[in-house]
Amino acid sequence: MTCLFCNIAAGHIPAKILYQDDQVLAFDDIHPQAPYHKIIIPRKHITTLNEVHDQEDSVLMAHLLRSAVMLANQLNIAADGYRLVMNCNPQGGQTVFHVHLHLLGGRQMAWPPG
Ligand code: 5GP
Ligand code: ZN
Repeated sequence: MTCLFCNIAAGHIPAKILYQDDQVLAFDDIHPQAPYHKIIIPRKHITTLNEVHDQEDSVLMAHLLRSAVMLANQLNIAADGYRLVMNCNPQGGQTVFHVHLHLLGGRQMAWPPG
């Protein structure tokens, strides 16, 4: 298995997991960019958001988004605010080619992003 996040989902590479269910997994980013920086992935390998075509994967993406909001609430950052980021392909800043959401919080975010 060559995909880093598939390996984390399978338990072959350790990560600090804070939530998982049968469809998604959330863990600490190894290089946090904010006091809270979580990565939320589908267990299913989907390379980029551009590869989400059918209804099943669209429902999965909705569950990914809902899981991020649930985690923001659990982490007590929902009311103050947080940022969800999904980078797509190299110009979008994607470095791991398994769809994932970044949940960032605990500090003031800036706009525009870098
Ligand atoms: P991307 O740049 O693809 O949007 O995000 C990939 C994220 O994965 C980066 O924020 C990076 O720090 C994180 N990352 C890379 N390798 C590992 C790892 O081995 N473990 C964990 N937990 N996060 C990783
Ligand atoms: Zn994968």
